[in-house]
Amino acid sequence: MTETRVRFAPSPTGFFHIGSARTALFNWLYARHTGGTFVLRIEDTDQERNRPEFLQIIYNSMRWLGMDWDEGPEIGGDYGPYFQSERGEIYQRYLDKLKEAGRTYLKDGALYFRLEGERYTEYDEYLKAEVEKVKAAPVEIDDAIRGKVVRAESRDFVICRADGSPTFHFVNVVDDIEMKITHVVRGEDHLSNTSKHVELFHAFGAPVPQYAHLPLILKDPQDGKGKMSKRDRGALIEEYQERHFLPAAVRNYLALLGWSPKDDREKMDIGEIIEKFELKDIQKGAARFDEKKMAHLNQEYLKELPVETYAWHARPVLTEAGLIAEDADEDYLQRVLALCQEKVDALQNLPSFTRYFFSEDYPKDEKAKAKLLKKGAPKQRLAEVHAALSQLSDEQWEDEAINQAFMDLAQAHGQEKPFQWWPITRFAVSGTTSGPDFVPMLTVLGRERVLARVQRFHDQLEG
Ligand code: GLU
Repeated sequence: MTETRVRFAPSPTGFFHIGSARTALFNWLYARHTGGTFVLRIEDTDQERNRPEFLQIIYNSMRWLGMDWDEGPEIGGDYGPYFQSERGEIYQRYLDKLKEAGRTYLKDGALYFRLEGERYTEYDEYLKAEVEKVKAAPVEIDDAIRGKVVRAESRDFVICRADGSPTFHFVNVVDDIEMKITHVVRGEDHLSNTSKHVELFHAFGAPVPQYAHLPLILKDPQDGKGKMSKRDRGALIEEYQERHFLPAAVRNYLALLGWSPKDDREKMDIGEIIEKFELKDIQKGAARFDEKKMAHLNQEYLKELPVETYAWHARPVLTEAGLIAEDADEDYLQRVLALCQEKVDALQNLPSFTRYFFSEDYPKDEKAKAKLLKKGAPKQRLAEVHAALSQLSDEQWEDEAINQAFMDLAQAHGQEKPFQWWPITRFAVSGTTSGPDFVPMLTVLGRERVLARVQRFHDQLEG
């Protein structure tokens, strides 16, 4: 059996969006599933629109998503160069082949590929009704996803422009032949080009690769109907990087845009996706992008991370927000995160959720404060808490002892539970009435911070 060779062939003319990432991923998954080779080929023949920064974004996004290529830029391989702009000689050779075979002619300075006419088949009657002036016999495309697709080219087409530059159809096919590509997995928008490509493969006497045209991706339901475009919200992979999504979660979500395992599970580790991934299980119908679903999957991934790994992801987020120094204490960081990991839905919300653990400059929820100050005797409650907690030494500052101190306080006031003292204390130390579990939060904040904040808030209150 021949080794599977697939390629992802982006043009560096724009940002790396969900559609490109999904195409790259499906190729990569198929290569890994079959033990084949994943080639990255840069289709940079459009000199006017290529930008080096877009190329960097392609590399960067692919690496971020863990899609390593076996052959291509920065790595090399036996079938290079992997930039179309550097393959001029190869294209010339192939142009000459077609010229010699009498399959080309010049018209208005451009070089045309001559279709072979008069190849009538069983589809002819049908096509004659559909397409005027059918020139070539219809081509049957055997698509791994769509089954048999029949298309016919009605016109000869340009393979080399008047300025000497070969066209997309031509270089795309030449490279697939030269790079020994066995499977062409690409977006459905290319289906309309495929009959041209098949004609070229035939003209070169080369085997036609197995095609698999991936379904369209539709806009997020929140953004209306139709095909998702590069300009739609949530379309760029870079955005997820900036918003600190976990690459494994994004990759998992992308895998579900048109593919699903038979048991319909969603959260799957990459090894399992690779193991189950088959082209024939890709759906024909359009896939719908749903950012909420991606965010939800990301949250599930975040919850399951061991705290050490979570801290590894959280550190740059908190550093960027100016909350911790690069060399901040790992032990304290992990203790804070162990408390908050469950409650924070996305890493980008971590700074606002944990600010008071790292800084004295944290916001106070004025509405919550107004409500708290309306009942009971807040100033007195705070004085009582301060007195009770200052009995504990630094060494005694643990969940159990703190809990006991509150219980004793309650009892001394004839109460069964210390609920009268909790909300005002929580507000004093965190500026809010919600957050992680109360007593463990005090433990992690530490004696000094807690007492100082309780005292400070107490002193601000009138009464
Ligand atoms: N450069 C083409 C694109 O970005 C690749 C087409 C193909 O995969 O054959 O759409």
